[in-house]
Amino acid sequence: MSDNVLEKSAVVKNGRSVEETLNPFAIAQAQFDQAAELLQLEPAMHAFLRKPMREFHFTIPVKMDNGRTKVFDGFRVQYNDARGPAKGGIRFHFEETIDTVRALAAWMTWKTATVDIPLGGGKGGVICDPRMMSNAELERLSRGYMRAVARYIGLTKDVPAPDVYTNPQIMAWMMDEYQMLVGHQEPGVITGKPLELGGAIGREDATARGGVFTVREAAKVLGLNLKGATAAIQGYGNAGQFAHKLASEVLGLKIVAVSDSKGGIVNESGLDFEKTVTHKKTTGTVVGFPDADSISNEELLEMDVMVLFPAALENVITHRNAANIKAKIVAELANGPTTPDADKILYKNGVYVIPDFLCNAGGVTVSYFEMVQNAYQYYWDADMTDKRLDQKMTKAFHAVHKTADSRQVNNRVGAYLVAVDRVAQAVRLRGWV
Ligand code: NAD
Repeated sequence: MSDNVLEKSAVVKNGRSVEETLNPFAIAQAQFDQAAELLQLEPAMHAFLRKPMREFHFTIPVKMDNGRTKVFDGFRVQYNDARGPAKGGIRFHFEETIDTVRALAAWMTWKTATVDIPLGGGKGGVICDPRMMSNAELERLSRGYMRAVARYIGLTKDVPAPDVYTNPQIMAWMMDEYQMLVGHQEPGVITGKPLELGGAIGREDATARGGVFTVREAAKVLGLNLKGATAAIQGYGNAGQFAHKLASEVLGLKIVAVSDSKGGIVNESGLDFEKTVTHKKTTGTVVGFPDADSISNEELLEMDVMVLFPAALENVITHRNAANIKAKIVAELANGPTTPDADKILYKNGVYVIPDFLCNAGGVTVSYFEMVQNAYQYYWDADMTDKRLDQKMTKAFHAVHKTADSRQVNNRVGAYLVAVDRVAQAVRLRGWV
């Protein structure tokens, strides 16, 4: 994607060509405004919830391997903590912007409320290209990030986690740096840690597993049979790879196409999970996988499949391609993959969208389980985690589906109605507004 903040694309409305914004925060605010109006939020509450409560901008000087110092820009946004400490990942990305972080922090607020866990919403980011950095440079950047935010985060304030291009090793360095600064053990300060350092069994595949549970429930309400039906996945990182594994294992779906930033592959007979992952691990991309044809990311989105999993980045389904989406269910593992104009087209065409902050809420739900286990120093097994995750996701799915159905709105608006109402109630009870 090019610059999220500036990018706009032409869309025709009432016969006029107007701009469709691709700024993620403008999109998040427009989505929120719609819910606020339907909920008839009082004006002060509306104004309060459409902006972050606080945000931090900082510079991180890092000694690079060549002996020079490079200065990186970092952010942490605490969007809202009325329901509990802020919670949200840290993204390392060369196109990171403060507006992307604000949008992701807003969506975290609505996400934790939708699955009804006692946390608020936050997000962090660094403008950098981790693919061009050595491990030693990444460690120094991760520790530098933590030194910059340590005084503003913590178990009772704000708990970070991994996101795009950050992983358990980065969480381990950050946790260690935090503990060095505060002088005591506090594993719950960050989630998505390696198992050896207090990570939760089941966190690694939780985002995809939670999404798969919501697809199962969607198929039930739509009367669709998923066994042997086809699916395509855009993005082949944490969320995308585990979606491949679990959509086949748990739902019996046949994954016929997957892609990453370098391109996609397709095989109508199905792509074997182990072989595809091994190819990705050894070559760094799914492209070039034997026994599969090439496909572009754009073509993958428009495939005639039962389930489409966008699992990469924002703004991939826009007014330009929404009318060509043939999937019956779009399960948004990525945050913000669909623009508001595209949402309207998909709804009109009867495509059942499981919106991002419901579909991908499994990750933060098991992160919350990780915090609980860290606090009690007592760890659950995979069965216990999966069962409790299933309960949370299933309950959240039906709350959203029922609301959308009864208010005759699309599922995204339904999810906003559920989430915003819960956050607003916490704000009122605290007496903030
Ligand atoms: P990741 O870094 O593990 O993987 C990202 C994948 O997307 C990579 O395969 C990359 O090649 C691919 N990609 C990047 N740009 C692309 C492009 N232009 N076209 C196609 N593919 C592209 O990240 P992840 O953790 O899997 O996160 C993916 C999405 O899921 C993000 O939107 C993230 O915010 C969301 N999400 C992740 C989690 C989690 O627990 N990992 C939780 C909730 C939401």
